[in-house]
Amino acid sequence: MTEAPTQTRACGACSLCCKLLPIAALEKPHDQWCAHCRPGAGGCMIYDSRPETCRTFSCYWLADPAAGEHWAPLKAKMVVQITGGHDAAFDRFVDVHVDRGAADAWRKEPYAADLQRMSAEPRTLVRIFQGHRTFIVRPGEVLEVKRA
Ligand code: SF4
Ligand code: SF4
Repeated sequence: MTEAPTQTRACGACSLCCKLLPIAALEKPHDQWCAHCRPGAGGCMIYDSRPETCRTFSCYWLADPAAGEHWAPLKAKMVVQITGGHDAAFDRFVDVHVDRGAADAWRKEPYAADLQRMSAEPRTLVRIFQGHRTFIVRPGEVLEVKRA
């Protein structure tokens, strides 16, 4: 989706958010390349008319200088999006979108410890989107969300 770079980080050849995030306006599911993306060769081909979801997306690694370098999406094979304020129980959602090629990466270190730490922050919900499975990380445990 190509964000404005921080002082030290930029998307470079990464376009992983354009694969891992679901984009309802394009009927693009999770973990499938967007038809408008040219990974490593210019990124979004419809940048000026891209959907609102793409315009408002904020990449954790790119936006937060405190994010460890291991969270670089091409290295982690995960894209993290942190949003807030649309649930009575939580003020902050940490959504981890996992590439199918590294499905269990979030269970391993250093990622697992980071996610545990984030889950212990007040009114924060950590969610893992891995293929068709969804997990919730809570302090000391991981729960799979059963779908109806
Ligand atoms: S429309 Fe553009 S920014 Fe949005 S997912 Fe597709 S390639 Fe990425
Ligand atoms: S996942 Fe982050 S670093 Fe990679 S292209 Fe998207 S915004 Fe840029």
